[in-house]
Amino acid sequence: MSPTLIVRGARVLDPLAPEPRPAVRDIVVTGERITSVGQDIAVPPDARVVEAKDMLAIPGLVSAHYHSHDTLLKGCFAPMPLEAWLLHAVPPNYPQRSREEVRARVLIGALEALKSGITTLQDMATVHPFDPGEVDTIAQAYDDIGIRCVFALQVGDVPGSRPLPFWNELIPPELRGGATVTVRRGGSARELIERIEGERRRHADRHPRMSWALGPATPEICSEEYLGLLADLSRRENLRVFSHVYESKGNTAIARQHYGADGGSLIRHLARVGLLNERFTLAHGVWLRQDEIEQVARAGAHVALNPSSNLKTRSGVAPVRAYLDAGVKLALGTDNSSCSDAQNMFQAMKLFALLAGEGGEKAFAAATVGGAQALGLGDKVGRIAPGRKADIALLSLRDPAFVPLNDALRQLVYTEPGRSVRHVIVDGRLVIEHGRATTLDEDALYAEVERLMPTLRADLEQIRKRNERLMPYVEEAHLRTRALDLGLDRFRTQ
Ligand SMILES: [Zn+2]
Repeated sequence: MSPTLIVRGARVLDPLAPEPRPAVRDIVVTGERITSVGQDIAVPPDARVVEAKDMLAIPGLVSAHYHSHDTLLKGCFAPMPLEAWLLHAVPPNYPQRSREEVRARVLIGALEALKSGITTLQDMATVHPFDPGEVDTIAQAYDDIGIRCVFALQVGDVPGSRPLPFWNELIPPELRGGATVTVRRGGSARELIERIEGERRRHADRHPRMSWALGPATPEICSEEYLGLLADLSRRENLRVFSHVYESKGNTAIARQHYGADGGSLIRHLARVGLLNERFTLAHGVWLRQDEIEQVARAGAHVALNPSSNLKTRSGVAPVRAYLDAGVKLALGTDNSSCSDAQNMFQAMKLFALLAGEGGEKAFAAATVGGAQALGLGDKVGRIAPGRKADIALLSLRDPAFVPLNDALRQLVYTEPGRSVRHVIVDGRLVIEHGRATTLDEDALYAEVERLMPTLRADLEQIRKRNERLMPYVEEAHLRTRALDLGLDRFRTQ
């Protein structure tokens, strides 16, 4: 097969061997793969050429933690404690959404991601109430826009609620009805596993850029039996597992109470049920103790950090430096659009680098190769090299962020806000060209979202009204949780 696309004359930045002023190269793509990276390559007559003079080519960025279900709620909320935000944002608080809304929200999130150079998303999607048709809608939207996606249904099986400490003491019973901070479903653990596995099999090989993973929402809402069955399934089918672990101090306080058999440690609990291994990614990982960080490192598990959302939900700051020192495999995520509120890895990289006190190399590696490894795509994406999938973002160097070009990597992490992304290639296909989507009509999508919003806004208004009465109690619970002595403090930054 002869080359199908040539990226001509870009400065190619490799996350593992970054040069301050990267050498100018041509990138040859055949089908969906990069076949060579070299100089002055002859262009076959039928290959498409992307002129990339004065452009920086970087591997498409990988957001290792994201949810497509609330992308239409960006900008709706001021910072608030995690548990308060969940009451506003988690789908079970809402009536079932229309298929049109589900499609539009997947597309808008993916479009925002692509336009800021993200080519792979790990979508922990909540489908509530469970509906195979909605899964089809989500998968179709991803196929249509052309982004790569590692998809996991986010679900737990514990019907009771362990949402936050002091919930039962503080919140009057008459106000609890209907409000939920968790994504959980009734039914036995085995039934749930069958449903998840059934969906995975039903979609297998139907979506070229989509792979499937498992998403126990958070261990606190998952029974030991369910987690054990997920561990078996993950081992048997070589599936990645993603879960929210130690995101807030509230999660941590609950773990201390709930996992007595494991010394109050969620990490030990995960190890005991068979999940803590190289296929597992802890999303957030803000409140781990030093011994737990070391256990994660030894197990070869991954951590997907989400600094923006942690700050906005007052969850604290993950111990980035301690993770790096312990050799934990790190990835970066953009998290929900209603708590970060941006599908933008440049913001995530800069925060990571600042919090770690590092030059940007680790941040860029986490946003590319680190994310790829966490998602089980370590040999497929994350670098621009022969044999890899052609997932590439091209950034204009004729932008103040890169002029003068002193150190491409440091300017990418510390200076560039995402403004200079011009072209984006996924799976060998130019999906963003001169900053516009080639796979859909952007203006039609924006109009469609406007058409859908009155219904969503009306539903949100109802939820706000309900929550108004709850919020003073939730705030009080948050303050009491903050005051607990758990032997570590993640509210201090460095
Ligand atoms: Zn999340």
